[in-house]
Amino acid sequence: MISENIKRIKSEIPEDVTLVAVTKYQSLEATQAVLEAGIFDLGESKVQDFLKKYEVLGDQPRWHFIGHLQKNKVKYLIGKTFLIHSVDSIELMDVIEKEGKKQGIVTDVLLQLNLAREDSKSGILEENLQTVLNELSGYQFIRIKGLMAMGPLTQNNDKIREIFVDLKRIYDKIKEESVGEVIQMNYLSMGMTDDYTIAIEEGSNMIRVGRKIFS
Ligand SMILES: *Cc1c(COP(=O)(O)O)cnc(C)c1O
Repeated sequence: MISENIKRIKSEIPEDVTLVAVTKYQSLEATQAVLEAGIFDLGESKVQDFLKKYEVLGDQPRWHFIGHLQKNKVKYLIGKTFLIHSVDSIELMDVIEKEGKKQGIVTDVLLQLNLAREDSKSGILEENLQTVLNELSGYQFIRIKGLMAMGPLTQNNDKIREIFVDLKRIYDKIKEESVGEVIQMNYLSMGMTDDYTIAIEEGSNMIRVGRKIFS
């Protein structure tokens, strides 16, 4: 049951770790059950599905967009999200900046890194991160609030942990070196159903959990 699953997860994680309930494949009813269980951070990965739920639920939840975002869909998200977790290119940031400027709205985002270097995943490669960060100083309508990454697809916990340790190291480094108006490192979004325990041990303060809530 949704509320019991949420209660169990909440009891396992520290209070300062935000639980984002990933409602991406869930019906409106199941999504509402999450709100009734007291979780207001919801993760969606398809713009179309998100907009349908937004029509009904509006700004009551804090909406997290966690899926790959196409540039031509950015305009539908501006002003509606608490956080876009999946910003993975300068081109996408340019569009968010441009659309935000049109509407006079600043968008908070996380940079998604592809530390596991898996072809199936989007995300910025570590060697390209500095170039992306250098581009940021000119932006007025986009704020980088942290980093997101997915653990590698493996059963090997050491390999998973390695990726999370890497992400935390990069997060701390950026936090130390580049805090300002545009870059404010507040959120380290790592950990899903299968790996959130490891992620929290390695410094995550925001986990994105789907299956464990709805199974
Ligand atoms: C689907 C998804 C999740 C949730 O995954 P579960 O394994 O169901 O917990 C988290 N993050 C992203 C980016 C996702 O696409």
